Amino acid sequence: MIKIYNTYSKKVEEFKAIKDKKVGMYTCGPTVYDYDHIGHAWNYTTADLLRRTFEYNGYKVKQVLNITDVGHLTSDADSGEDKLEKSAREAGKSATEIAAFFTKIYFENRKKLNLEKPSVVAKATKHIKEMIKLVQILLDKGFAYTTSDGIYFDTSRFSDYGKLSGNTLEGLMEGARVEVNMEKKNPTDFALWKFSPIGSKRQMEWKAFGRLGFPGWHIECSAMSMKYLGSTFDIHTGGEDNIFPHHESEIAQSESATGKRFANYWFHTRFLLIDGQKMSKSLKNFYTIKDLEDKGYSALDLRYLFLQAHYATPINFTWESLEGSKVARGKLNDFILSIKGRGKVDKNYKEKFLEKINNDLDLPGALALAWLMIKDNKVSDFDKKATLLDFDKVLGLGLAKLKKEKIPEEVLKLVKDREVVRKNKDWTSSDELRHKICDLGYLVEDTTSGSIVKKK
Ligand SMILES: [Zn+2]
Repeated sequence: MIKIYNTYSKKVEEFKAIKDKKVGMYTCGPTVYDYDHIGHAWNYTTADLLRRTFEYNGYKVKQVLNITDVGHLTSDADSGEDKLEKSAREAGKSATEIAAFFTKIYFENRKKLNLEKPSVVAKATKHIKEMIKLVQILLDKGFAYTTSDGIYFDTSRFSDYGKLSGNTLEGLMEGARVEVNMEKKNPTDFALWKFSPIGSKRQMEWKAFGRLGFPGWHIECSAMSMKYLGSTFDIHTGGEDNIFPHHESEIAQSESATGKRFANYWFHTRFLLIDGQKMSKSLKNFYTIKDLEDKGYSALDLRYLFLQAHYATPINFTWESLEGSKVARGKLNDFILSIKGRGKVDKNYKEKFLEKINNDLDLPGALALAWLMIKDNKVSDFDKKATLLDFDKVLGLGLAKLKKEKIPEEVLKLVKDREVVRKNKDWTSSDELRHKICDLGYLVEDTTSGSIVKKK
């Protein structure tokens, strides 16, 4: 039994799949107009851990990930400049080029973080027809209306609007900013489709509803999730900042169109903080995977750091904690590499591991359990290795692919020479040789059974 926190019910619930051992999962993907940062990495890693947890429990997961390659507007309130076209204009490139560039980087980062490949990658620009069809259904059913600048969803027709974010419709209406668009029926109404302003030419626009225009921000996720997963599917994931208005609006437009429940479970990852503060470009604490690599860390060190946090509480990133993660991951790798051969998965520890991950993804508990087992004298080293490799199906630290690094001949020779001078108690030469080895990028450690050499 898997238990997860459902934002919709605001409770930890037992997960029940629609179809026995199958899970339909939709993950809100990136808007590809800028570099993705480690906050995004945290969000996509938790979705990956969720997916792997299902798979470890024997479910077959169909994960759909969208790529927003048609810009939504810079303001959440359906106004402002298109993020993609703005980025393209600033870079002197086309919007299509910008989207292709950042999509490539996004997938490279996913690979580095060892995230499983989505079953379907759905690009918004390839699903315009489906979006137009959905907007038309909403118009036909009277849930949408046309104004001079676009087609809007009438939130007063959907009484559950606000349920996901824990708001009432009245509360949201009162809290809405002073309305600039006098044609909207209610301040909470949102754009399903926008018309291109008359007299201006957009890079991305399509002929529909008798004019040129482009989709509103939320419609793509409804159209694409339902296309690949059906009107009702199991679980929808995203970041906490997606809850309102994005996911709230997805529910309203999808359920109004189909008359059915949209997603059964809503899984949201809380914010990633940097030294206790929100990440932002103006605070200069905006980090990408590349920034981490430049400082000598790998994306897997970051993944290890993520394993020590719970998705439903904000995570605090510090360079010290990343360093700690790097050291711990190194020790885990060394342990795996030091054991030749493999035993059997320890049933007792596997059971405990399942209990942890199935308890609302208690990855910190699962990781602590792995270390507890490593220190347990009652389990053989061979069995420990087999069990860790089994746990890694969820942890995703790439333990099965670890290879002993090849030490260059030049370094090995210096290590041998050093062993000789050490036997002769020539400590001066020993130190000199250690420095030479160090200059080549390697560290030498002296143990009772001889010297061990490692990459710095
Ligand atoms: Zn979305």
